[in-house]
Amino acid sequence: MTFIGRPLVKQCLRCGDFFCESNVMSGNTFGAIHWSDGKVSGPYVLEIPALGKCPHCKGLLWLQDAPRAVLAATTRVAPNLSMHLDWKEEDYSTALASDFVQTRQQELFVRNRWWWAINDGHRGHPSKHPTRTPTQHANMEALAEMFSESNDEERLLRAELARELGQQQEAARLLSREVRITGAQFAQRITELLREGSRRVEIVYVNG
Ligand SMILES: [Zn+2]
Repeated sequence: MTFIGRPLVKQCLRCGDFFCESNVMSGNTFGAIHWSDGKVSGPYVLEIPALGKCPHCKGLLWLQDAPRAVLAATTRVAPNLSMHLDWKEEDYSTALASDFVQTRQQELFVRNRWWWAINDGHRGHPSKHPTRTPTQHANMEALAEMFSESNDEERLLRAELARELGQQQEAARLLSREVRITGAQFAQRITELLREGSRRVEIVYVNG
């Protein structure tokens, strides 16, 4: 079951106006699709959003940084003034070039979400060789550089990035090291896809 609580009213730090943030309390992974780029999608999978856009000033927001609003009892915030979650491609590059991104973890998060957002257009697409713009390509290369080779999960994501970028030797090198059992299914699937010559994001498994 998915429970949605009362929306939280928050305040934009840029313009000071109020907006609603949905308050997701739980979801579940029934029917969830696990993709080769690490994204999990499904009818009941609810990720607590981290990135948003103010509905008033359109400023980019880290939702956890936006404070809860202190409202007078008579103040009502229209439910349609919810935050926008639809970051456009230029929002990612703007965020990375501005003080919006201040820590390594924030950079990693924004680059990862940009990669997933671009891959969203290729999930289930017939072409195994999706085209990417130079900025999308550069983002994927920068993200690969940020992932550590000494951590199994990060090394597999790095191998997946190399596969999608058409860097077959680099992907094979990263996949040649043994992974712990939890990563074995991902490693096997990415290895198969590499052999097939696919550069598209693919399904690894689906939860029953
Ligand atoms: Zn604002």
